[in-house]
Amino acid sequence: MPDPRLSLRGVTKSFGEVQVLRGIDMDIAPGEMVCLIGASGSGKSTLLRCMNGLEPVDDGEVLLDGVDIAEPGFNLAPIRQRIGIVFQSFNLFPHMTAYDNVALAPRRVLGEDARDRIEALFARFGLADHMRKYPDQLSGGQQQRVAVIRALAMRPQTMLLDEITSALDPELVGEVLDVLRKLRDDGMTMVLATHEMAFAREVADRVVFMDQGVVAEEGVPDAMFEAPQLERTRRFLASVL
Ligand code: ADP
Ligand code: MG
Repeated sequence: MPDPRLSLRGVTKSFGEVQVLRGIDMDIAPGEMVCLIGASGSGKSTLLRCMNGLEPVDDGEVLLDGVDIAEPGFNLAPIRQRIGIVFQSFNLFPHMTAYDNVALAPRRVLGEDARDRIEALFARFGLADHMRKYPDQLSGGQQQRVAVIRALAMRPQTMLLDEITSALDPELVGEVLDVLRKLRDDGMTMVLATHEMAFAREVADRVVFMDQGVVAEEGVPDAMFEAPQLERTRRFLASVL
């Protein structure tokens, strides 16, 4: 295995009395697509937020290309460019066009206009005709694609995606999953929490089952879905498949 892009070592995180992550060890290789599955409350979102420093960890290491970004005082601003994150709720600014939502951060943070690159992203993901629209003129699936484009406009090396299709009407899920397929084919390193089991099975290099703040079981999709080793994995899969 090449040097991991992202490595977690013994990551723990509590909210008050509740320990939500209980010693997570994980390596993510460059270009790998890892799907996190597990019941609501198992710690998937918290784990993703710890991976780019949005949530400080209590203990353990978060190594990005070998550098521990969980060290107190570490300057996280450049990390946020290298690791993009997209959430279930699209969080687009309602008073700005789709294009301006995307252009905001490159302008402010990278100090570049990036027009050609942004227009190319809209075109690639089928939204060339929608750049000048406001979020409320777009469908949920289109808004979520804009949110993905917004993250990509910062040229991240890694994308974290937290249940990005969960708020969508079923008929809009496919167009967002298509975006992820394209990113995968580009070799983007991705970690996504998802309830889309068929999608995880189709595209993931590795599936990680989280249960109560630990990695309970992981493996290649066929093994995880066909022959899970643990009873709790079987029970979870039976509840969602
Ligand atoms: P998942 O994404 O797998 O549903 P989460 O990471 O969102 O799991 O949540 C794991 C646990 O942490 C849940 O019990 C949740 O209530 C709790 N939790 C998450 N975020 C916070 C927070 N900011 N404050 C307090 N508790 C939280
Ligand atoms: Mg979650």
